[in-house]
Amino acid sequence: MEVPPQGELLVNATLSDEERRRYSRNLLLPEIGEAGQARLRSGRVVVVGAGGLGSAVLYYLAAAGVGHIGIVDSDAVELSNLQRQILHRVADLGRPKVDSARDAITSLNPHCRVETFAVRLAAADIGAILKECHAVLDASDNFQTRFLVADYCWQAKIPLVSAAVAEFSGQLFVVDPAQGSPCYRCLLPEPPKERELGILGAVAGVMGCLQAIETLKLLLGLASDLVHRLLTFDALACRFHKMARSRAADCPLCGDNPIIGRQAALT
Ligand SMILES: [Zn+2]
Repeated sequence: MEVPPQGELLVNATLSDEERRRYSRNLLLPEIGEAGQARLRSGRVVVVGAGGLGSAVLYYLAAAGVGHIGIVDSDAVELSNLQRQILHRVADLGRPKVDSARDAITSLNPHCRVETFAVRLAAADIGAILKECHAVLDASDNFQTRFLVADYCWQAKIPLVSAAVAEFSGQLFVVDPAQGSPCYRCLLPEPPKERELGILGAVAGVMGCLQAIETLKLLLGLASDLVHRLLTFDALACRFHKMARSRAADCPLCGDNPIIGRQAALT
């Protein structure tokens, strides 16, 4: 199978008066300015998961002016989600999460074009859903999806911003093949056993905000320390820690003798 080309950031730098007012605090940042804002408007990202992480990340990407956002989630809103998944409201109970997520972020920023995919990602459709995007955000809640997304992004050379939370802790890292990042499997070669754990909602908010920041930096062409490091957050100790990640020679995906073939990851 052909590896789909990563979308080019084609930038029309002209902003409307309404956009200049809306994004005035972005425009004051030398790292963004009008050219950067136009880059964000041309940006195309897909967020996998409209849960706790997705709630924070989707709000902040939309608010910042990312022009095209895909949302993937197969679930409907349940009462137990509202403890942390602040995209959704009581009135949304029973609705597809992608619908309430779309409504929440377009009511914040109608400039944002949202495409929804009410599916659980599978090998058969991942290529169509992730095509031509500049970054993929893993905000999912299961390892099957995480590994599918990570393997696909690595093979298709799409930057991946991966966040995870459990109980009082979170982790975040960026895999950008163009910058020589170690892949996801260098850190975690195989899916561990799934366990249902508690989670403090605000921890998902913290990590989702950081995930949004790293994604905006990628779209703006700003350097990220997390392409070669893993950031962890311990909410109980209120401590952030960064540790180096390196390519694992025995990695099943990108190591010296990979056992996960191109076809397996792309089909
Ligand atoms: Zn690897």
